[in-house]
Amino acid sequence: MKDSDRSFPNVRVVTHPLVQQKLTTARDARTGSPEFRRLLAETAMLMAFEITRDYPTHDIDVETPMGLAKGKVLRTEITLVPILRAGLGMADGILRLIPHARVGHLGIYRDETSLQPVVYYNKLPPDVAATEVILIDPMLATGGSSVVAVEAIKKTGASRVKLLCLVAAPEGIEKMMAAHPDVMVYTAAIDSRLNEHGYIVPGLGDAGDRIFGTE
Ligand code: URA
Repeated sequence: MKDSDRSFPNVRVVTHPLVQQKLTTARDARTGSPEFRRLLAETAMLMAFEITRDYPTHDIDVETPMGLAKGKVLRTEITLVPILRAGLGMADGILRLIPHARVGHLGIYRDETSLQPVVYYNKLPPDVAATEVILIDPMLATGGSSVVAVEAIKKTGASRVKLLCLVAAPEGIEKMMAAHPDVMVYTAAIDSRLNEHGYIVPGLGDAGDRIFGTE
């Protein structure tokens, strides 16, 4: 993994070969829903390894069958917050790695008149403020949904928020950096641009459709 992308101090690009190989297969238009879903979950699991790298731990003693060993456990709980619906595909993978993580959900739509993202569903665990939060949105495109999602999370008092995505567009990264410079973005790729419909080019198409087979 690069320490940071030079032009985007708020971004960590996870360049691990397994992550990159899985992303490449996921991008392929010939990859069908079952494989796409599996790849997204596996990529998220691998990327979670990087996201959680600096999470604080404390020391404990553990009784092994042979005696006492020094061990470490995470100091705080973890909350996953997938943005509906594509975020669900990545949350599943992380839950395999961190089964005790809590899961909150945010549903966001774009108002047709104002064109602004609006939160229509907000169900976060009551103690979210005391936890490390991983917001999950596979495609950081315009950044509108992710910025509004971080606002909703911060309203609870939560301050330790990271954003996990699979592919990011420069426009979305810049929007997130301007609105929430404290939120580090973890992505497997930064693509070149958005098209006129707000899709990432070359991207991988509509992540939600490809996960759930609704193309
Ligand atoms: N959402 C997607 O699913 N894909 C994009 O390219 C942009 C937003």
